[in-house]
Order: sequence, then structure tokens, then C-alpha cells
Amino acid sequence: MTTHQVVLIPGDGIGPEVTEAVQRVLEAADAPIEWVQHQAGLAALETGSDVLPDSTIDAIRDYGVALKGPCTTPVGEGFTSVNVQLRQRLNLFAAVRPVRSLAGVQTRYDDVDLVIIRENTEGLYSGIENRITSDVVVSMKVATESACRRISHWAFRFATQHRRRKITVFQKANIMKMTDGLFLRCARQAHKTEYPNIEYDEAIIDAGCMKLVQDPNRFDVLLLENFYGDVVSDLCAGLVGGLGVVPGANYGHEQAIFEAVHGSAPDIAGKGVANPLALLMSAVMMLDHLAETRNDERCRTTARKIEAAYEQAVVAGMKTRDLGGRLDTLQFADAVIQRLG
Ligand code: NAD
Repeated sequence: MTTHQVVLIPGDGIGPEVTEAVQRVLEAADAPIEWVQHQAGLAALETGSDVLPDSTIDAIRDYGVALKGPCTTPVGEGFTSVNVQLRQRLNLFAAVRPVRSLAGVQTRYDDVDLVIIRENTEGLYSGIENRITSDVVVSMKVATESACRRISHWAFRFATQHRRRKITVFQKANIMKMTDGLFLRCARQAHKTEYPNIEYDEAIIDAGCMKLVQDPNRFDVLLLENFYGDVVSDLCAGLVGGLGVVPGANYGHEQAIFEAVHGSAPDIAGKGVANPLALLMSAVMMLDHLAETRNDERCRTTARKIEAAYEQAVVAGMKTRDLGGRLDTLQFADAVIQRLG
């Protein structure tokens, strides 16, 4: 039986705790995965390497798929985000974050089913900042026609393949007429020329956010440039129980990195209480990706088995503290393992 070699980056803060839990579940589910561990972030610095070692990048290029824990980024100083570097250096231009209500997790809404698609390589995340005078600093928002077109086409193709009904672009083209204007034009063009099968809509981001919290069900797939996608992902996580239940994937043409939306959560790191579910859900997305790209049905079967097990665990009240339960990280993993069919 062949196994798929996958790069595992435990990351910082709660990263090693949640990755250990996810590895446990995947092993118990007999997932056909062989982990190839590499470091990035503060964990890499601590071993005397660069914050993003070339060996880590090379491994992801070689193996094509990675599962990654969160990496800490210093605030207001220090090195460029490892997460942003990875996405830019590997050209992982499309971030996908499914946001779904989970039976057993009580929130204001019980039927949220959204997908966030975020352009992952430019916008305000381009990291181009300059000091103009002692009093003035600027940060550049970069939009290229090629990247705007690429993400627009990708999003409509995704919506078509996943049988979604509608794409809404969140933007602020009334103010950022050039950058957001270009993003909008490319989305309109993709819809009109190639994907009239998908409904298309636009919202100015401030009003869009209000509508999202009033009634998330009026939306289906949200398409956003980089920075808006970052902010709106966390907002949407709040609609379904928080960052502990929102997975993510970063896709390029050649490689894909799967990671939760949440960060390294320094406030709870080292306590063993973090919710590993968001990373486990990301691992399920990874198994589906392996099933599709490597034509391996075992990965799809394992994905469904794990999905059913964590859904049953949560319905049975087996939850970590962020979801109102009492379990710690590894106890939750064990509750999932007990329910693997
Ligand atoms: P965060 O997502 O780490 O935490 C926000 C809040 O959510 C905290 O109260 C935290 O305890 C809680 N939380 C997050 N994940 C949780 C989980 N799995 N279980 C239970 N509670 C959870 O955001 P932050 O505090 O703004 O950022 C911390 C660090 O993470 C920063 O250095 C930031 O740059 C980095 N970060 C990394 C990534 C990534 O690696 N992709 C993403 C976001 C933030």
C-alpha cells in the first residue's frame, strides 16, 4: 500500500499541541500519510535556522502538500510573517475557508454555510512599506491584473465544481477606485464571459459585514482581496463558534498548504487546552485534495470517517473549552478516535 508523503510544520504557540492531536487522529484512522517534519517560525529560529528555512520550502516543493500549524509574527517590528512568505514564495494564490455551523455548537445561527475565497499574494499584504519623512510612513496596496484575473477565475471554477450557487465580491471600490476597481472588473469579467451559471453579486465591504452578521444565509461564496479576506474570515468564524472550528487551505498551481484560520494563540499556548478541531478539519480538506489530485479513494474514505467521528463527538458534548466543553486538546482527539467507525 502506498502512502503519501506530506510535510508537517508544527509551528508556534498552540501549533505543536494541535498538530500532535491531529496526527493521533489520522494515525488511528489509518490515513495513508507519511509525515515529513520541517520547521518554520519561532520554532525554526530556536534551532538556529532561518525563520523560514530553505529546506522547508524545498520540502513543500518536493512533496507538494503540507499541513501547517500557526506561526507567530512579531507585532510592529521584526521579521516578515512566515505565513505571508510561504504563500508568496510558493505562489499559493487562493485561500479557501469553509465556514459551517456544527451540530452541537450553539451560536446565534444554526445553518451557516459560507465559503471564503481570499486572494493570497498581494493587496496590503505585499509588505511594501516606506518611510517618506520622519512624520510619514506609507503602506502600498498592490493589485495586478494577472492576480485579480487568476483569483476570479479560480473562485468561479471552485464554485462550479463544488455546486455553490452564488459569489459575492466584498470590496471598497468606491474609495480604492484603482485597486479594488481592478479586482471588481476582473470578477465581473470572469462571471460574464465564462461563468454565467453562478449568480454574481457585489457588496461594499462595510455594508457587507453588517449584512453578514444580520443574516449570513443571504451569502454563499465570498470573494475578497487579501486583507479583507483576512478580517472577514475571523468575523465569519465568530458566526459558527469561533476560530476553533474554521479550517483553511492555501492552493497554488503546484502546491497546497492546509492550515486552520487561527493563529498561535499565545494566551493559551502550553496549557494543552487548545481546540485541535480546526486543524483536524484542515487535515480532512487535505485528504480530499490528495484523493482528487492523486486519484486515491482511500484518502476520501478516511476523510469521511474522520468527519463523521468529529461530528458525533461534538454532538455528544465532547468539546474543548472554547466551545463550552471541558475536554483538553488530547482528550478531544481521543473522543474523536473512539468514534472512528
Ligand atoms: P489567534 O487566532 O492566535 O487567537 C485569537 C483568540 O482565539 C485567542 O483568544 C485564542 O486563545 C483563541 N483561539 C485561537 N485558536 C484557538 C484554538 N484552536 N482553540 C481555542 N482557542 C483558540 O490570533 P492572535 O492572538 O491575533 O495571533 C497570535 C499570533 O498568531 C500572532 O503572532 C499572529 O501573527 C499569528 N497568526 C498566525 C496565523 C497563521 O499561522 N496562519 C494566523 C493568524 C495569526
